[in-house]
Amino acid sequence: MTCRWRATGAGPSDVRILALNPGSSSLKQALYEFPEGVLAAESNAIEAVGIRVVHGGSRFVKPVRVDDAVVEEILNLRELAPLHNPIAVRVIKETRSKHPGVPIVAVFDTSFHQTMPAIASSYAVPQDLEVRRYGFHGISYSWISSRVDTRRHIVCHLGNGASVCAVLDGRSIDTSMGFTPMEGLVMGTRAGDLDPGVILYLLRKGKSEAELDDLLNHNCGLLGVSGTSGDVRELEKSAAGGDKRAEFALELFAYRVAKYIGAYAVVLGGVDAVTFTAGIGEHSPSMRSRICRRLGFLGVELDGELNRASRTDERRISRGPVDVWVIPTNEELEIARMTYRELQLDRS
Ligand code: AMP
Repeated sequence: MTCRWRATGAGPSDVRILALNPGSSSLKQALYEFPEGVLAAESNAIEAVGIRVVHGGSRFVKPVRVDDAVVEEILNLRELAPLHNPIAVRVIKETRSKHPGVPIVAVFDTSFHQTMPAIASSYAVPQDLEVRRYGFHGISYSWISSRVDTRRHIVCHLGNGASVCAVLDGRSIDTSMGFTPMEGLVMGTRAGDLDPGVILYLLRKGKSEAELDDLLNHNCGLLGVSGTSGDVRELEKSAAGGDKRAEFALELFAYRVAKYIGAYAVVLGGVDAVTFTAGIGEHSPSMRSRICRRLGFLGVELDGELNRASRTDERRISRGPVDVWVIPTNEELEIARMTYRELQLDRS
């Protein structure tokens, strides 16, 4: 392998970085060339690999070069992200054996939220419990923040997993997911915010821990409410055909997003821009409209035509004083950019 990391000077050039984005049931990947940060024309030798890890706990506050100790620590955090961290470790191990000697950087979804003040990252529980709010989707928020240059920014990452982030001058100051990715918005199959008393009630009614885990992760949210699907595209079709439960599930989703946007307007002391991203945020004009029609008093007003236009590029869709953007997320490129920067720092 030809190592193109320069020992000194302006930084590495002509470097190909493979970005790996493992989810609970899929592995997205893309190969980029740096310093340009463009997709590689052909798949040939790679000089570094960046891997997304969902939970970095309090230990990983920024991307880190992977060694045996880091692998062990990521695995130790599996109690916080049982669906995701073990998969990331498996992918790291496979990558190490497939590309021996190639530097690997772990990039954490929690890191972007390390800038949250204690008032946003704390639960009102005794400190010795060692539970706090971490936040997720940080790689996506980092990408979006690099695309929209504004001061008081509310970013809505609305996919199967969904969250909202209050971003002040490019830094997270609050977000709707917390200790785990279960807090906050209504999601495809997760309930989001729930009175903890409900869990105690269900335990007393005889549900086991495994049953509760399955219920809360896989059978709540849009799926639980509609009784048919956790997928917004399908629910929109059913609602258009007169399915009242599908219609209610979509409204409940929109209501919760709008409520968080209102809360984050308070957190930010006002709002200059709202951005929609991820599957629902990028592709559902109807959901954007359901959300924004509750926000007129804040100065959020959609341009109906721009909102409905079937485009896939970055675009502004508002006509009110608050900018509303649709920005396609690009987690793979952001993983690669973070990896490039980390290895650059490593060398300097
Ligand atoms: P993600 O997890 O980012 O892939 O987003 C998945 C969600 O996006 C699912 O609820 C999909 O139904 C939704 N989605 C994707 N494309 C569309 C579309 N064209 N219209 C409405 N929802 C969509």
